[in-house]
Amino acid sequence: MAQAHDPDYVGRFAPSPTGPLHFGSLLAAVASYLEARRHGGRWLLRIEDIDPPREQPGADADILRILDAYQFEWDGEVCYQSRSVSAHQEAVARLMDSGQAYRCGCSRSDLADAPRGSMGIIYPGTCRNGCESNEFAIRVLTHNEPIGIVDRLQGAFEQRLETESGDFVILRRDGLIAYQLAVVVDDALQGITDIVRGIDLLDSTPRQVYLQRLLGLPTPSYAHIPIVENDDGSKLSKLTGAPPVEATNANRTLFNALRALGQLPPPELADASLSEQWQWALGHWSPERLAGRKNIAMQHYC
Ligand code: GLU
Repeated sequence: MAQAHDPDYVGRFAPSPTGPLHFGSLLAAVASYLEARRHGGRWLLRIEDIDPPREQPGADADILRILDAYQFEWDGEVCYQSRSVSAHQEAVARLMDSGQAYRCGCSRSDLADAPRGSMGIIYPGTCRNGCESNEFAIRVLTHNEPIGIVDRLQGAFEQRLETESGDFVILRRDGLIAYQLAVVVDDALQGITDIVRGIDLLDSTPRQVYLQRLLGLPTPSYAHIPIVENDDGSKLSKLTGAPPVEATNANRTLFNALRALGQLPPPELADASLSEQWQWALGHWSPERLAGRKNIAMQHYC
């Protein structure tokens, strides 16, 4: 297909080092990489290591080892999100200073009876008018105007945050920066123009767009690819026992990843070298084959 040339395109892959890469995360890496290269743009790698309690020692090095074994070529140095925590804290302070964020002293048990939506509890706004507690999270004040995107694969998607998530956490009660805030600050710091990632994060996107608007940051373009599901329909993840992607037989796995992404590699490519497979993939990448798709059945590809 024709190569859309856009040298200003900056894409990224941003794994959390909570465990080894599995087939679903490999698909996000492959899709974001091919899309960046199809545009003649850059592809950056960011290790999202700001949640130590969820991290696994050595997982970052292991992820890099596998990406290297699959011959991904990222641009520049690997970025570690933990190194930009001061920028995250500054963003939280700005939202506090402008009255767009507030301290929330509610504990988990205080919120046990709060309504729940698809993204977890819908914060009922208990601490909007003040919080006396010494232990607190920081939440951003939401409203009910629809916040939406037109996703390049999934089409229009919007949420009314106050009703659907409630005021959400940007600084956790344990002092750690919340993913929603960190990802927005780092995408802007790295000049990311285009995000390709799993559809499990589509639900988070309106919250991220909202934060971008409050902080005066640009909104990238988004494309959410389907997620890989186990035979029972659950999402493939570390929690559901997803096997790690191995460096051995990488060409077989890359071939299957391309097929899972809706591409139609010729059967003889299965035994070709990685560099031949990448060359084919770069010449034939057609992300529109994924348009509107929400899931991929693991059993067909492994
Ligand atoms: N770090 C997130 C994860 O591994 C991905 C964040 C993103 O792509 O926005 O699920």
